[in-house]
Amino acid sequence: MSKAIVIGSGFGGLALAIRLQAAGIPTLILEQRDKPGGRAYVYQDQGFTFDAGPTVITDPSAIEELFSLAGKRLADYVELMPVTPFYRLCWESGKVFDYDNDQAHLEKQIGQFNPRDVEGYRRFLDYSQAVFKEGYLKLGTVPFLSFRDMVRAGPQLARLQAWRSVYSMVAKFIEDDHLRQAFSFHSLLVGGNPFATSSIYTLIHALEREWGVWFPRGGTGALVQGMVKLFQDLGGKIELNAEVTQLEAEGNTLQAVQLADGRRIEASAVASNADVVHTYEKLLGHHPVGEARSTSLKRKRMSNSLFVLYFGLNHHHDQLAHHTVCFGPRYKELIDDIFNSDALAEDFSLYLHAPCVTDPSLAPPGCGSYYVLAPVPHLGTADLDWEVEGPRLRERIFDYLDQHYMPGLREQLVTHRMFTPFDFRDQLGAYQGSAFSIEPILTQSAWFRPHNRDSRIANLYLVGAGTHPGAGVPGVIGSAKATAGLIVEQLAP
Ligand SMILES: Cc1cc2nc3c(=O)[nH]c(=O)nc-3n(C[C@H](O)[C@H](O)[C@H](O)COP(=O)(O)OP(=O)(O)OC[C@H]3O[C@@H](n4cnc5c(N)ncnc54)[C@H](O)[C@@H]3O)c2cc1C
Repeated sequence: MSKAIVIGSGFGGLALAIRLQAAGIPTLILEQRDKPGGRAYVYQDQGFTFDAGPTVITDPSAIEELFSLAGKRLADYVELMPVTPFYRLCWESGKVFDYDNDQAHLEKQIGQFNPRDVEGYRRFLDYSQAVFKEGYLKLGTVPFLSFRDMVRAGPQLARLQAWRSVYSMVAKFIEDDHLRQAFSFHSLLVGGNPFATSSIYTLIHALEREWGVWFPRGGTGALVQGMVKLFQDLGGKIELNAEVTQLEAEGNTLQAVQLADGRRIEASAVASNADVVHTYEKLLGHHPVGEARSTSLKRKRMSNSLFVLYFGLNHHHDQLAHHTVCFGPRYKELIDDIFNSDALAEDFSLYLHAPCVTDPSLAPPGCGSYYVLAPVPHLGTADLDWEVEGPRLRERIFDYLDQHYMPGLREQLVTHRMFTPFDFRDQLGAYQGSAFSIEPILTQSAWFRPHNRDSRIANLYLVGAGTHPGAGVPGVIGSAKATAGLIVEQLAP
């Protein structure tokens, strides 16, 4: 019987496996780590639960679709709770902007920054909604396999001025410097430099306004568990601690995968949710296609890395919002350092996650679990020794938070751990330690991105951040839809 193997259990791998299994294709997930989720791994420590990665859950309809095509209800597996405000944006000047879904409240706050920007914001929202319809609803789940597909999308992309950057498009509508930051930082959530990434990524704003921001009860890990259970309820199999070391090919057809424990498992189709460079270089490097693809992929620009600090406190900071963006003193210059400099900047901008605001069960009573992340250069941009830089940056960030956002943090610390670019490289196999795979600039998007199906090895598929449409939970779940359609075409019983 035709069987599919999915290498990796990130959100993309899980969503793909669910779709295949629901279509009647027996599917096996092989995950190298001891828990599923990939970047959405979970750490448990002294009663604290730390979601390692995604915390801003958007487009619940894409998740709901996975459950409904299996004849189930998402609500029976995991509860999604609305988060308000979506984010609190804070600057060192003391200015604060609560970004939520209430138009009147948004306009009132925008007016306090700059009255002329109220009208500008309305026009920006119109633009963002137009991009959302074209870029997300129409093209987000369609595989770009041939250049013709790209040419077909060309007129819409041209009409929406997709060659402009996110920031330049925001600046066209909005004058105030703080508000320009508030409406352009979003592309950083998927590894895109707002000054270089296509204005198509302004669609994230419309997407959040359309469907809201959500958080699963029990944390993002509960959503991962819900998806694993759905997959298993459908009859799918998942193996943990199962590292794939090689894709075995005969000519241009894959026959089997080889595992680190010496096993060999045959499959009719193999989809890799692993890093794309890792897939072609390490798993298929012995084959001419793997060799050629990894050489060309290594010439592409990778997105930035992240420094992530998870910490548990014996105190709940109820002055915080669930999601806070702490803008540092510089914006464009700092982003330029993150994407292009070979050194670590003196300053930083931070994203602070305080999930106990929405779900106190993630820490012992009266306590709080948190994480804070700073975008940092990947290892190809800045060849830093994170064994040394990590502890230094940790101390600087703790001091900063203690001083500006979480007074008393130092005395309240119960536990902490770091995840550095070295960990992205070593634990996730991410090329150059990139947190979001290939940088989402226009010339590396859609057809220019590694395709959902390899053009030469017809039963090798990709799913996840490195293929179309790209990183972020909605992106990789969209990639699973695009890839599943192709595999079902090949294998459906
Ligand atoms: C700290 C952080 C915060 C983020 N926050 C958000 C957010 O709030 N909202 C949002 O939408 N997005 C967010 N993102 C982005 C989002 O998490 C990712 O783009 C997305 O989860 C990636 O999913 P993926 O399907 O590409 O797989 P990954 O999560 O990259 O998983 C790939 C899996 O493949 C496994 N694997 C690799 N090689 C092998 C092998 N040889 N054999 C077996 N298994 C293998 C890995 O162990 C891993 O489990 C965040 C990312 C990070 C890092």
